[in-house]
Amino acid sequence: MNLSAANHRIPLSDGNSIPIIGLGTFSEPEHTSKGDCKASVRMAIDIGYRHIDGAKVYQNEHEVGEAIQEKIAEGKIKRKDIFYCGKLWCTEHAPELVRPTLEKSLKNLKLDYVDLYIIELPMAFKPGDDLYPRDENGKWIYHETNLCATWEALEACKDAGLVKSLGVSNFNRRQLELIMNKPGLKYKPVSNQVEVHPYFTQSKLLKFCQQHDIILVAYSPLGTSRNPSWVNVSSPPLLKDALLNTVGKKYSKTAAQIALRFNIQRGVVVIPKSFKPERIKENFQIFDFSLTEEEMKDIKALNTNTRFVELLMWSDHPEYPFHDEY
Ligand code: NDP
Repeated sequence: MNLSAANHRIPLSDGNSIPIIGLGTFSEPEHTSKGDCKASVRMAIDIGYRHIDGAKVYQNEHEVGEAIQEKIAEGKIKRKDIFYCGKLWCTEHAPELVRPTLEKSLKNLKLDYVDLYIIELPMAFKPGDDLYPRDENGKWIYHETNLCATWEALEACKDAGLVKSLGVSNFNRRQLELIMNKPGLKYKPVSNQVEVHPYFTQSKLLKFCQQHDIILVAYSPLGTSRNPSWVNVSSPPLLKDALLNTVGKKYSKTAAQIALRFNIQRGVVVIPKSFKPERIKENFQIFDFSLTEEEMKDIKALNTNTRFVELLMWSDHPEYPFHDEY
């Protein structure tokens, strides 16, 4: 695979393609200034990113949309150059909510279609305006989950031209098989967005997905922001890893660049988040070197099955995805 800064799309099973690096846009709203997301997306597009990973639940989709619109108006890009991935949140799994939810995102984004729309988590919550519904005792209010029915509603959105490709996120093997074996399946998932990095290499899920022509998209590829309110910080920070830093020195690269290169070299799409100009630039500079087979093997051996994003607060949901081995 010959990947370059100018040309780094890889094929999806439905005939479309996905840029192997995208800008992540999740940033805790309470620690983020208004406009930071927009400025970062604008900068990323100038640097050469063509893939933006977003979600309604990140509460900044309108900023992503403004940045894309401005860059189109400036003549820097055309709509077809940009790949935007949006996500269906847990309160919106009910089939009748799927299309109106996507249409609301499109309105916020000021786009006619998204390139990829994914089920963010395989767990349904009570529908309504409250994105994180709890009862008066603080207990989460779940909803009956019927992933196949949600998937059929997504297929209808693709048929209506509102989305080019359909995928999932945080699905385990059983949940992927549930969709793939659905009677009357029209479109199979093209991608599964899950946590992947050198401490959590996901080798078994990657192999399974490769066998079924499903692209793995790595979230938290740098080991997350380590915000203890939602991240498991009991294991050491990925970017302080000795091996990643030693290999980095050899190529005059940072540990972050080595972690990202490791994933793209094994065909895994990466979506590092940064709202800092220098880091947005740094994270994109991964096309001018390659890791040797031995380095890839050594980095793979760093795997400790460390999940930074455990989502344990929902571990009693019937479709909590992380009880299974993969
Ligand atoms: P990342 O692994 O991308 O790490 C982001 C953190 O690393 C931020 O604190 C950022 O800070 C910092 N950082 C970025 N670049 C560098 C660098 N070069 N050197 C040192 N530090 C750096 O974590 P995320 O959890 O944000 O994952 C990426 C994206 O994946 C999200 O933004 C979101 O789009 C998606 N995601 C999807 C999930 C899902 O369930 N589908 C779950 C989690 C994430 P700063 O901004 O200050 O540079």
